[in-house]
Amino acid sequence: MKTKFIIIGAGPAGLSFATTLKKLGECSFVILEKEKESGGLCRSVMHNAAPIDTGGGHILDVRRKNVLDFIFSYMPENEWNFYDRNTKIVVDNHIISYPFEANIWQFPMEEQIEYLESIAKAALLQKEKPGHFIDWIYWKFGDKIADKYMIPYNQKIWSCDLNLLGTYWLEKLPDVSFRDTLASCLSRKFYGTLPGHAQFYYPKKQGYGEVFLRIAETLKEHIRYEYPVKELDVTNRIINREFTADYIVNTAPWVEFSEKMPDDISKLVKALQYTSVDIDYYAEPSDTDAHWTYYASPDLSYHRKIHRDNIVAGSSGYWTETNAKRRNKKGLFHFENPYAYPLNTMDKPSTISALLSKMEKYHIFGLGRWGEWEHYNSDVVIERGIQMAEKLIKK
Ligand SMILES: Cc1cc2nc3c(=O)[nH]c(=O)nc-3n(C[C@H](O)[C@H](O)[C@H](O)COP(=O)(O)OP(=O)(O)OC[C@H]3O[C@@H](n4cnc5c(N)ncnc54)[C@H](O)[C@@H]3O)c2cc1C
Repeated sequence: MKTKFIIIGAGPAGLSFATTLKKLGECSFVILEKEKESGGLCRSVMHNAAPIDTGGGHILDVRRKNVLDFIFSYMPENEWNFYDRNTKIVVDNHIISYPFEANIWQFPMEEQIEYLESIAKAALLQKEKPGHFIDWIYWKFGDKIADKYMIPYNQKIWSCDLNLLGTYWLEKLPDVSFRDTLASCLSRKFYGTLPGHAQFYYPKKQGYGEVFLRIAETLKEHIRYEYPVKELDVTNRIINREFTADYIVNTAPWVEFSEKMPDDISKLVKALQYTSVDIDYYAEPSDTDAHWTYYASPDLSYHRKIHRDNIVAGSSGYWTETNAKRRNKKGLFHFENPYAYPLNTMDKPSTISALLSKMEKYHIFGLGRWGEWEHYNSDVVIERGIQMAEKLIKK
């Protein structure tokens, strides 16, 4: 079968790309999706009369007006609740608000002094910004935040040797200066700029995945479900020896179909690393008013709890996020996502850039979290999907 475009994956990136093509009058496209439903990592299920996000907790960030317009055109704003973020961190036996450095004032006085002293010592030693993530943690926060929170938490979430990770992606983390930390301890209140997702939307009744089901419904004649792409003949742009197109847009992890690619391309794909997320639901009520809580302790297998009962009115329970390497307990409902986070290894920027430019020569484009191997959130991939469709349609 031949079309102008093939889109691999019906997650937010593939769906926003495809709907934009359609809006611009291009209907010669097919979406090939491995699962039996759209939404990718943003999918949800209903369990115990309320939603669980199977890819881990997902909320809609408010910062991209064009993306909100896009989303609300499928699921009107009055079907969403709007929240000011309330999230916590548990370290030892203490619970403080997120982000850590802006809320040290919530620790007992002795602890505050130790944290401030260690940040101040790190500040006095300031050298050039390190290239390795683990060195950056000590450089930026000092020993105490590093040892109590940053190292154990990051060890849990990435589950890899932290020395493999670079620092080029750290604008994702809140940037609180020592001056802000000091001011917040002296004034005993949050000080500085608010972190990402400071305000967010979540659907009133369904999970986050609902909006992507609605978008997919408008494309249903174009989507082939339960159709995993296993083979990509790069030079001839043929998929599974069945589909061909003038342009292929890939939003799935490249490693899914790297086997028969040319050696130079396959080598690049195999250098891209990733980690998983497993989620487990428990029915007990949450003992907090937070929307979610981060856990640094290596003794707990999970790194985050999503307090569903504080996000969806009338719901009960919470779910935990861990990964395949650490999970030691199954909840009442559980779900495994083998692909959750692209790993920001030291050489990833050069690897993905070489891969994408080689692929473009064959009119194959990477889009979204996996196509571009970036920690993009759904609002970002939606925006990028719209922009890529507007660009490629002119070719
Ligand atoms: C724990 C966690 C929490 C997150 N929280 C948030 C949040 O709060 N807010 C937010 O906006 N974003 C959040 N994100 C990010 C969000 O999940 C991604 O930005 C978004 O899902 C990326 O969309 P995508 O379409 O690029 O990729 P995906 O959603 O991964 O979609 C890729 C699609 O490709 C399909 N596919 C895979 N392999 C194949 C194959 N071989 N053949 C055919 N199809 C295939 C998949 O089934 C999937 O449908 C979070 C991510 C994680 C892991």
